[in-house]
Amino acid sequence: MKKVTVNANSASYDILIESGLLSKCGELISEVEKSGKCAIVTDDIVDKLYGDITVKSLEENGFTVSKFVVPHGESSKSHEQLIAIYNFLCERDITRTDFLIALGGGVVGDLTGFCAASYLRGIDYVQIPTTLLAQVDSSVGGKTAVNIDSGKNLVGAFKQPALVITDTDTLSTLSEDTYAEGMGEVIKYGMIRSEQLFEKLSKGDSRKYIDEIISECVSIKRDVVQNDEFDTGERMILNFGHTFAHAIEKHAGYGTVPHGKAVAIGMYMITSAAEKQGKVKKGTAEQLKKCLEANSLPCGYNISHDDLYKLSVGDKKRTSNKIRVIICPEPATCEITSLTLDEYRDLINLV
Ligand code: NAD
Repeated sequence: MKKVTVNANSASYDILIESGLLSKCGELISEVEKSGKCAIVTDDIVDKLYGDITVKSLEENGFTVSKFVVPHGESSKSHEQLIAIYNFLCERDITRTDFLIALGGGVVGDLTGFCAASYLRGIDYVQIPTTLLAQVDSSVGGKTAVNIDSGKNLVGAFKQPALVITDTDTLSTLSEDTYAEGMGEVIKYGMIRSEQLFEKLSKGDSRKYIDEIISECVSIKRDVVQNDEFDTGERMILNFGHTFAHAIEKHAGYGTVPHGKAVAIGMYMITSAAEKQGKVKKGTAEQLKKCLEANSLPCGYNISHDDLYKLSVGDKKRTSNKIRVIICPEPATCEITSLTLDEYRDLINLV
């Protein structure tokens, strides 16, 4: 079993990675949670696939388990679901010493994490991520949130999990598309920090050594999060490709271009534009394109420069008249640059 330990300021926890861990989750959780009572939050698809095996392992290890199932999809990351979960937890008499389990992808993870951060002013939660995106990214680092009408992830909190259990067998039931979306974030880690990982990924055969890949990605995220838990500096590099991605997701209508694919397009667009300005080593955009294509990810999206500018300039990474843009001058190197809005407009005109 691979183990990556995160030592954040607010909490330390392990990320355990191996095939078959779900059937041992009760035993693994009993090492960190002393209460005998927990509530699982999951979605309908994941529940059908992995609900029973999770409950069985928990009950075999002495836990009393309740389960709350939300409909799958981004729309469940809502205040309505959050309040329904709070009420469910009260009905089941879940107290501050009990804990929650997020069983599912990033939607369930973000929703459960925010619930754990706010219910009774904070209770523990364990992440059991079941999508590639959640295994390499959203289950680690403690960012939790729900969406509101004004935008995605606008209400949330930092709340680190008590444990992350990553069973790589769960990836076998993911659609090829959902798997590819996770690869968008995986390639991001290669671009920002690891040439070796980037080169490996360019072969497009990631399933063969997915445990290693997940472990490398979460180790990179761990290092970044430990240096900047509350996202005031270095953690921003994890947003490589995301400024354009958020604009593309908004332009297409949320859910039309999935996040991981939007990140792939965003990484390519920014790299090719910055390469034209001489800020990126010649040939890097082409190298990235080949890697994305080898992993069934897109590089292009039809959007006017005006729309790309308007939809991205309101991004969280903007201060009054400057915007922070993340550029990789070559694979495994990453810079946070602060551009005036005019400079940003010039960059976008080269996309
Ligand atoms: P998701 O949770 O919606 O899962 C995608 C689909 O896969 C769902 O329909 C789900 O039911 C299904 N699914 C999950 N596991 C499965 C399995 N093993 N087999 C078959 N089907 C399965 O989406 P996601 O891509 O995992 O996560 C996206 C969310 O993550 C977004 O809301 C995004 O904002 C958030 N996110 C958060 C962070 C963070 O740091 N907190 C980082 C990146 C993304």
